[in-house]
Amino acid sequence: MYAMRPMPRSVDPISDPLSVPVGVPDPALARAGGILTIDLAAIVANWRALVGHAPSAECAAVLKADAYGLDAARVAPALAAAGCRTFFVAHLDEGIALRRILPGGARIAVLHGPMPGTEGEFPAHTLLPVLNSTEQVRDYARLAGTMGRRLPAILQSDTGMARLGLSRGELDALVNGGGLSGLDLVLHMSHLACADSPGNPANPAQLHDFTAACARLPGVPASLSASSGIFLGPDYHFDLVRPGAALYGIAPQAGAPNPLKLAIRLQGRVVQLREVPAATAIGYGHTAHTTERTHLATIGIGYADGFLRSLSNRGAGWFRGVRLPIVGRVSMDSVILDASALPAGALHAGDLVDFIGPDQDLDAIARDAGTIGYEILTSLGARYPRRHLGL
Ligand SMILES: *Cc1c(COP(=O)(O)O)cnc(C)c1O
Repeated sequence: MYAMRPMPRSVDPISDPLSVPVGVPDPALARAGGILTIDLAAIVANWRALVGHAPSAECAAVLKADAYGLDAARVAPALAAAGCRTFFVAHLDEGIALRRILPGGARIAVLHGPMPGTEGEFPAHTLLPVLNSTEQVRDYARLAGTMGRRLPAILQSDTGMARLGLSRGELDALVNGGGLSGLDLVLHMSHLACADSPGNPANPAQLHDFTAACARLPGVPASLSASSGIFLGPDYHFDLVRPGAALYGIAPQAGAPNPLKLAIRLQGRVVQLREVPAATAIGYGHTAHTTERTHLATIGIGYADGFLRSLSNRGAGWFRGVRLPIVGRVSMDSVILDASALPAGALHAGDLVDFIGPDQDLDAIARDAGTIGYEILTSLGARYPRRHLGL
């Protein structure tokens, strides 16, 4: 019923939910139980806003996990066209896939670095490994020796997360022992553990330790901040910032106003409407019961679509600005809403109800689900047709 052709550029589908024009029907959208709309123009606008927040640094883009579920094959070219030159993914496979999409000049860095035996794939696909351990450095330097040339690479220091990267002692040992000599270090990076809470003393502690580690690598550009770190101020910007979540509209700082645009809209389709009397048991396990006559709407998305089961009896959908609470458990392919707040006849089978959009952003649905916006995004299911707008 909705959304049958690409949006005109001037219309913002996210902030103007009723603006979607009726046009040539797209059968894939008409068939779907849920539709995920991705606003590429909003992602590009968020990237530009982040450039503005860290004007002295290069602004990269983190596209791991298929651009946090939003389709890296569409997001990457949009950001490259806007001027983004460095892209991060987590795995080698993601890097190889992204290399096929991006223009040759784009730098693609692989955060996990080479798994043992895969070192040769990095120069073969023009990918930059992030070297996280003494072993990764040793094996990559050995490859450089075999190839007879210095290989570009990124070095990661662990400054207080105990996840990936060299300890200060390991860095010193490599610098003192000449272990980095076969490598052309294009970036030295670290990652903040608590950047979304600005008052946390771990932030200045990591900043201090990173600055000290950088002093061991004179002339090597440095990078410390992902989305949240950008908002800790210019001391945290160094030469390159690496936002992911903020590109897609997740709030960078808990409890502060979100300066970024929501870049997605998730809609679920009304499959069936019914009116039930008081004391009707609803859904698996009968975890909800009506207390009065109630209008129920069954929507065609469920936990198989990444619509988290923890939203059972907690979250809500929205229709024309009216909140429709989830009643009962989220099922695999459906979820039941209490639609009684709507005027009679307002909702019909086939209508689309908003779950992420202008009335309920990623952080709001994440709160109801007991998780974070990152997990909501990266859980978005493969069954949704993904409709990219804005470019
Ligand atoms: C995921 C990741 C990022 C991006 O983080 P956001 O919080 O999504 O901006 C940056 N750097 C590293 C090392 C990461 O793992």
